Amino acid sequence: MAVKPKTMLHVSPDPQPSVFDSIVAVDAGVEHVLQYANVTPQQIQDIVHGAIFTRGVDDLKSTALFIGGNDVDAAGALFDEAKKCFLGSLRVSLMADPNGCNTTAAATVRTLVKHIDLAGKNVTILGATGPVGTRIARLIARSSTSEDSPQINLCSRDFAKAKKACDGLSKMIPHGKFIPYQQGRCGNSDSPTCNADIIISAGAAGIQLMDSDWQKLEKLQVVIDLNAVPPAGILGIHPTDDSKIFDGKVCYGAVGIGNLKMKIHRHAVVRLFQTNESAFEAEEIFAISENI
Ligand code: NAP
Repeated sequence: MAVKPKTMLHVSPDPQPSVFDSIVAVDAGVEHVLQYANVTPQQIQDIVHGAIFTRGVDDLKSTALFIGGNDVDAAGALFDEAKKCFLGSLRVSLMADPNGCNTTAAATVRTLVKHIDLAGKNVTILGATGPVGTRIARLIARSSTSEDSPQINLCSRDFAKAKKACDGLSKMIPHGKFIPYQQGRCGNSDSPTCNADIIISAGAAGIQLMDSDWQKLEKLQVVIDLNAVPPAGILGIHPTDDSKIFDGKVCYGAVGIGNLKMKIHRHAVVRLFQTNESAFEAEEIFAISENI
C-alpha cells in the first residue's frame, strides 16, 4: 500500500495561522498543510479525532499536528488538551512552537554551548519574561546539575514580573539558580550585567534594552541580541552578526541566531513524521538540535 502523503494540521488560536510556519513545513517536506484558525481547547478534540480516525495506526505517522500562534499561553493550552484526546496507539505526533519561541530558544542555547561551557557561569537575560527569554532560561538550567548550575539573572521592567517568572522556573527545575532583577543600567554595582559571562537580549521587537556599556565589561564572553527590528536590543550588535568577535567577546544578532533556528525548525518538522508518538516542546526541540 502506498505511503500516505505527509499531512500537517496547522492549528492556531489566532485568526490567521502563521504563513511562516506553513512555508517552513512545506520546505521540510510536508505535502499538505491544513490550517485551522481561532481554535480553542474545546474545539481541539474534533481536530484530533479527525486526525486519528482517518488513517490506520501504521499510517498515523504521516499525519502531525503543529501548534503555533502569537498567544503562547493559548497555544500551550491547545497542546495540553490535544494530548488528552489521544486514544492509546491512536495518536499523532505534535509540536508546539508559538511565535517561534521553542526553536529560537533552542538555537540560542545551542549557539551558546558552541562557545562557552555553561557550568557555573553568570548569565543575564534582558527582556527575560517573554516566551523566548523564559525558555532560554529553562534550557540553560536543564543543561546543568545542582553542583554546576549557572546563575541565570532574569531581568524585567517590573521586579514582580521577573520574580514570578523565576518562581515558575524554579518549580519546573528545582536545582536552577534563577535570580529576578529589575532592568537597570550597567554601572550600578548590583547590575546583573556587570558580572555576566553571557548577556542575551530577548526583549520585544524594536526595543533597546542595553547601550554600548557591554563593550567595557571585562568578564563578558558572549553577547546575543535576538531582536531584528531597529533599534537593536543591544546597541552595537547588528542583526547579521554571526560569531563576530569584538574585543574578545563573541557577538550574535537575530539573523545570526535565526539561521540555526530555521534549520532546527525544519529538522523538528521532519522528525514529526518519523513516528506517531512524538510531542515536541522546548526540551525535545533542543534535543533535536543537538543532533544537527
Ligand atoms: P515579547 O514577549 O514580545 O517581549 C519580551 C519581553 O520584552 C516582555 O516580556 C517584556 O518584559 C519586554 N518588553 C515588552 N515591551 C517592552 C518595552 N516597551 N520596553 C521594554 N521592555 C519591553 O518577545 P518574545 O516573543 O519572547 O521574543 C523575544 C525576542 O526574540 C523578540 O525581539 C523577537 O522578535 C525575537 N525573536 C527572534 C527570532 C530569531 O530567529 N532571531 C525568532 C523569534 C523571536 P517585561 O514586561 O517583563 O519588561
